[in-house]
This record gives sequence, C-alpha cells and structure tokens, in this order.
Amino acid sequence: MTTPGARAACIIGWPVKHSRSPLIHNYWLKHYGIAGEYRREEVPPEKFADFIRDLPARGYAGANVTVPHKEAALSLSRPDDRARAVGAANTLWLDGRLRSTNTDVEGFLDSLDASAPGWDRDLHRAVVLGAGGAARAVVYGLISRGIESVVVVNRTRSRAEALRERFGKQVHPADWGQDIVLDGAGLLVNATMLGMEKQAELTMNLGHLPSHAVGADLVYVPLVTPLIRSATARGLRTADGLGMLLHQAVRGFALWFGKTPMITAELRALVEADLGTSAG
Ligand code: NAP
Repeated sequence: MTTPGARAACIIGWPVKHSRSPLIHNYWLKHYGIAGEYRREEVPPEKFADFIRDLPARGYAGANVTVPHKEAALSLSRPDDRARAVGAANTLWLDGRLRSTNTDVEGFLDSLDASAPGWDRDLHRAVVLGAGGAARAVVYGLISRGIESVVVVNRTRSRAEALRERFGKQVHPADWGQDIVLDGAGLLVNATMLGMEKQAELTMNLGHLPSHAVGADLVYVPLVTPLIRSATARGLRTADGLGMLLHQAVRGFALWFGKTPMITAELRALVEADLGTSAG
C-alpha cells in the first residue's frame, strides 16, 4: 500500500523482473525526499488494456511500459507527436485522461550529448543497425536533429524499408553484413539485440569508420558491449546503453512526481553495480 498523499508509478512489462527502472526512480524519490513509490507490474498482453484503464484506481500517476506493450500503450492512450511518429509509447501519465510519449528519443539524444558533446556537428551520415521499436526512436531522433542521411541496416531488409516509408527519404535501407556502409559515417548506433548477454556478438569491422566517428550502443547488459569495446580500442568516442536508460527516465519522473531529476555519478554507479559490471 502507498502512504496517503504519496504518489506511485510503475513499470509494466511481461516479463519485468530484470528492469532497472525501479532502482533509478526509487533512488530519485529518496534523493529528493519525495513520498512515493515506483514498482514493477508483470502484466500479460491480454490483461494490459484493463490494467492501464485502472491505473488511477490502482493509485498510479503513470507508468513506464516495456516489451511487449509499447505498441498497445500507444493505441490505448492519447499519444504526443513523438510517440505517434515512432509508433510506440514507453511513458504514460494521467492528465485528465491517459497520455503517452516516447522518451527513448530524448534518452538516446541526451545520452549522446552528454557522452560525446558536439556529436552532431558536421554529421552528414549516420548508420543505425536494427529496425525495431528502439531503432525507430533512434531514427526519429536523428532526423529531428537534422541528420541528412540515416542508413538503416537490418537483418530483415523489409523492416529497414518500412522505416523509409515511415520517416522519408533521409532513410536509406542497406543490406546486413556489409561493413562498407560504415565508410564516412560519423555515427554508428547498435539498436539490435546483438552483443546483449546470451545473444550473438556484433561483429563489424569498425576500421571503416573515420577517426572522428562516435559509436553508440543501446544494449547495456553487459555495459561494455563488443561495439563499445571495439570503438574504444579504435580511439572513438562512445555512448553506452546505460546512458540512454538513465536519460530516458528523466521525463517520466518529472511528469509523475513533479521534479526534474539529475543523473548523478552516484546513480550511475548504483545501476552499474546492479548490472554487476564496472565502468570498463
Ligand atoms: P525489437 O523491436 O525486437 O527489434 C530487435 C532488432 O534486433 C531487430 O532489428 C532485429 O532484426 C534485430 N536482431 C535481433 N536478433 C538479431 C540477430 N541475431 N542478428 C541480427 N539482428 C538481430 O527490439 P527493440 O525494442 O528495438 O530493442 C532493441 C535493443 O535496444 C535491445 O537490445 C534493447 O534492450 C535495447 N534498448 C535499449 C534501451 C536503452 O534505454 N538503453 C531502450 C530501448 C531498447 P530483425 O528485424 O531482422 O528481426
């Protein structure tokens, strides 16, 4: 039960037990002395619509939404332009009615800004690996920053082509497995599962990237992924998946608890420790 006067939010997923969002939001609640709680809610797809309809009755001011509910969250709420454009919502809040947004977009951009300041200066060409929900948020973010050419490389080519349909002619679908696409690219982003614990490694020859390029990975388990390791070995600047996870959490917290939180070194160290890894 929540203390009277306290606010609550949650992350809804299926499964949800590995989510680090409770660690992040409960750290901020404690840090700012806000009476509230952030919980995990494991909800199967067939019960999702009922669950979010009853958010206020359950005492929630809002929620994060993760796999497999991000598309359903969009259709069951009033999305902002960003969530509608990406085709997925990861953050819900109550504002007279149930509203939604996609904070993966700013999570990705803000993390890059923090880890590799000026990354978009003179950046004409970016390469994004993947064409799923996370890749859509990344591509939308890159286009919103004015990147002229976003090459989308995906194992299933038709999904990369669907991103061109969705976002327009700045998107250039390319075949999987050809390192040559990296030639002259100022940014490489891994938005696939590759490199994640228990998944296959991402094997690309980053030697094709110019020396000013930035390597970004959305995967954060492990924190130091094969892409981050290879990019660092080549002397490139990097942005890791934990940075994105932390940055995407900021707006939800502000919407539910009324305070824009800071991403402190202490918070990052706390999540790193939970991931069972070091900064690398
Ligand atoms: P998704 O919609 O299921 O898309 C998965 C993508 O990975 C697809 O493009 C898929 O290609 C590709 N893929 C999977 N296995 C592959 C393999 N063996 N070889 C080549 N490509 C493969 O998942 P998502 O929600 O976009 O998530 C993608 C990644 O981003 C995950 O690792 C997720 O944890 C991470 N993520 C991180 C954050 C963060 O805050 N750091 C936020 C969101 C997501 P096909 O289309 O060919 O299947």
